[in-house]
Order: sequence, then C-alpha cells, then structure tokens
Amino acid sequence: MRIGILGDIHGNTEALSAVVAVMKNDGIDVWVQVGDIVGYGPEPSACIDIVRELGCITCLGNHDAAVLGRLDTSYFNNFARAAIQWTAKQLRPSDFEFLANLKYVESRDEFTVVHGTLHLPDQFGYVISPVEALDSLDQQATRLCFVGHSHVPAMYLRRGAATTDIRAINQFDDEVSYRDYERVLINVGSVGQPRDEDPRAAYGLVDTDRQVASIRRVQYDIPGVQRKILRAGLPEVLANRLSLGV
Ligand code: ZN
Repeated sequence: MRIGILGDIHGNTEALSAVVAVMKNDGIDVWVQVGDIVGYGPEPSACIDIVRELGCITCLGNHDAAVLGRLDTSYFNNFARAAIQWTAKQLRPSDFEFLANLKYVESRDEFTVVHGTLHLPDQFGYVISPVEALDSLDQQATRLCFVGHSHVPAMYLRRGAATTDIRAINQFDDEVSYRDYERVLINVGSVGQPRDEDPRAAYGLVDTDRQVASIRRVQYDIPGVQRKILRAGLPEVLANRLSLGV
C-alpha cells in the first residue's frame, strides 16, 4: 500500500495543485491530510474542494478549529489571527460543515493521523524534538503516525514499543527504511507554507510493502499565490515568507 500524506495546506491552491499533480504519478492507494487546510492562504474553499475530491482521511488542525470558533486565538500571532478572521468570512456553509465533522484523531489499521501530538491532540502541541515525539509515541497504537503543525519535516523511529531509544531524522534526500522499527512518527512538513528554509511544497509518501518513507518536495508558482494573498488584503508578511520558506 502506498500512502500519500498532505498537511498544512493553508489555503494555498498553487502549492496543493502542484503537489497533487506529482503525487498522481506516485500510485497513491490512500490519501491522508493531517490538518490545517485553511488559514494564512487566499483560497481556503478551493483547497477544501481538492481535499474532498481526493477522499483524504483528514483530521482537524488548529487553524481549522479556529475558523470554527472552537479555539481561542489569543495565542495566535496578529497575522495568523487576521487571516483566521478573513478566512471565516470567505468559507461557504458546506465548508464549515465539512470542517465541523473532522476529528482530532483518525485511525486505521496501519496508521494514525493527528495534527499536533497524540498525547494531547486537542492542545495542538508541536513535535519538534525527540522529547515531544516520545510522549506522542507512547500513545501510538499503530506502527505509523502522521502529524504536521510545525511545518518542518521530521521522522522519529522507535525500535521497541517501550524503549526511549529514538532515531530522529531531519534530512530527506533519500527514502528512509523503517523495517527495524516498531513505531514511526512522521511529520510530513507543509504543503502551503514550509518553514524549514526550503520554499518548495512538502508531502509525505509511505510504501508499507517496502517499509520505506520519504518526504518529497515540489516547486510551485510562489509569485502566483503571493499576488492572490496581496489582492485578498491578507497581511503582506504571509506572502513574503513563502519565498523564504519560513
Ligand atoms: Zn499549520
């Protein structure tokens, strides 16, 4: 089975369309989306449409929760909050209904999907080091778990289900074999707003037959989405950061 994983799309249709076009050549059997379809970007409804058409197994992100009014946005920075308010005015009733039906955690036989961490899924904490990865891995009942939220790709591989011995990977030039590991936590990075200083859109690909995982990057029309961000009246910083991948 080949699992294609999208995350943190953030209303960026240019990035999402480019990634999906590449993924269609990957022979994906199961499509997954780890949350934050909306927020920051200029085309939230169009991105929801694409995610729905692909039939992605999808969980709720913090920006998705914020537009539903389910999350206190006082800890959001000003730009993020402004974008949430803008997004809430753009969404169609069917978009709200779709987002409102998403759960914090989705599980299948081989994998679990959550936006932040499995130990506190409704708190939207970040997995950015083996310390947080360990807490989440302790709650992981499936061999694979896919997360997002930090917009920085990473993999945490645990040999036994109870050991604290964790291998952390942050470079993804090659695919990673997880054959020798019982638990694998994969942060797939961000489609629509990468923050690892690589502006290309990111997605995850897992082949469960070969037991390999990879993070792939795709070039897309950054100036195109930047023009839409400015035309929409969204904060300029949200356009500028896309060229830098921050
Ligand atoms: Zn996000």
